[in-house]
Amino acid sequence: DLKTIPILVPGPLNPDTLAELKETFEVIEGHGAPVDGLPAETRERVRGVALAGRFTPADMEALPKLEIVAHFGVGYDGVPADEAARRGIMVTNTPDVLTDEVADTALALLLNTVREFPLAEQHLRAGQWKEAAYPLTERTLRGRRVGILGLGRIGLAIARRVEAFGLTVEYHNRSPRSDVAYSYHPTLLDLAKAVDTLIVVAPGGAETKGAVNAEVLAALGPDGVLVNVGRGTVVDEPALIAALRDGTIAAAGLDVFEREPQVPAELLALPNACLLPHVASASRATRRAMGRLVIDNLAAWFAGEALLSPVPETIGIANPNS
Ligand code: NDP
Repeated sequence: DLKTIPILVPGPLNPDTLAELKETFEVIEGHGAPVDGLPAETRERVRGVALAGRFTPADMEALPKLEIVAHFGVGYDGVPADEAARRGIMVTNTPDVLTDEVADTALALLLNTVREFPLAEQHLRAGQWKEAAYPLTERTLRGRRVGILGLGRIGLAIARRVEAFGLTVEYHNRSPRSDVAYSYHPTLLDLAKAVDTLIVVAPGGAETKGAVNAEVLAALGPDGVLVNVGRGTVVDEPALIAALRDGTIAAAGLDVFEREPQVPAELLALPNACLLPHVASASRATRRAMGRLVIDNLAAWFAGEALLSPVPETIGIANPNS
């Protein structure tokens, strides 16, 4: 009976998901308090965790009966999955169900950045249209060469959309894909030299930290546009601010930032930065589908069945419920 299995929800979770989780499991809400601060008799019962955000090795240590961490979101850079694997703890994420939503957002952000639609709307709402038409945009999407950093599930969905817009696609991953005809560049710098528009949708973590640096930005050139829907950490934020200020690149559209929800005042002050508060997957339907996958993974684990979306690091971990 899943109802007897205690699942800890340490912090804020999508309300639809929390409600559905409570219908299936015994839910313990941490309300954002430190996990190791929970009463010992609670900590010692917890067998699963459902969360969006960070989970540390100390949190794992504080939960001696923990078997599975079901992460709400495909990017699980906040959960040390290698450490979980060492401890025999399963980690799941929510791939695929958000792919199209995030790809849609990337194209919206690209268009808004290049054609300044948010600024044009502000012009209208401020009553300035009566005085003057909104100025012609210096930039256009037409003729752009688009590079994608991270041609995975979402990257490919972005690439298909970019193609439909009549633009070319090139990419950089650690290894080339065998199932696409897009030009592969073995380094990010090579890609940046070849294109004028770089869309970042690579995962966060140590390996990609600061990958989009001053040199990569300079390679995009003065008509360059950067879009980031991956992780804020992938872009060297101070280098980006400098590049936007001095015209090294033309503009940037960002859904993610280094220290969310903190956004540097320098970025807020730049008219050539189009900024969104990490909303790429944030429709009610998509968030609900992500939550459904979180719950289905937990239910499969505790029923001893095959998981729907284990992260690669923890595939093959023994399930004591099987
Ligand atoms: P995938 O794992 O399918 O794709 C990731 C891609 O990045 C792969 O093509 C991979 O190729 C490439 N990659 C990984 N590491 C590196 C590296 N060190 N250098 C270069 N390329 C690398 O993931 P998804 O497409 O499903 O999601 C991608 C990311 O998007 C998530 O990790 C998340 O951070 C972000 N995201 C953001 C959202 C938002 O709200 N803004 C919503 C959803 C996701 P290879 O292995 O060959 O290197």
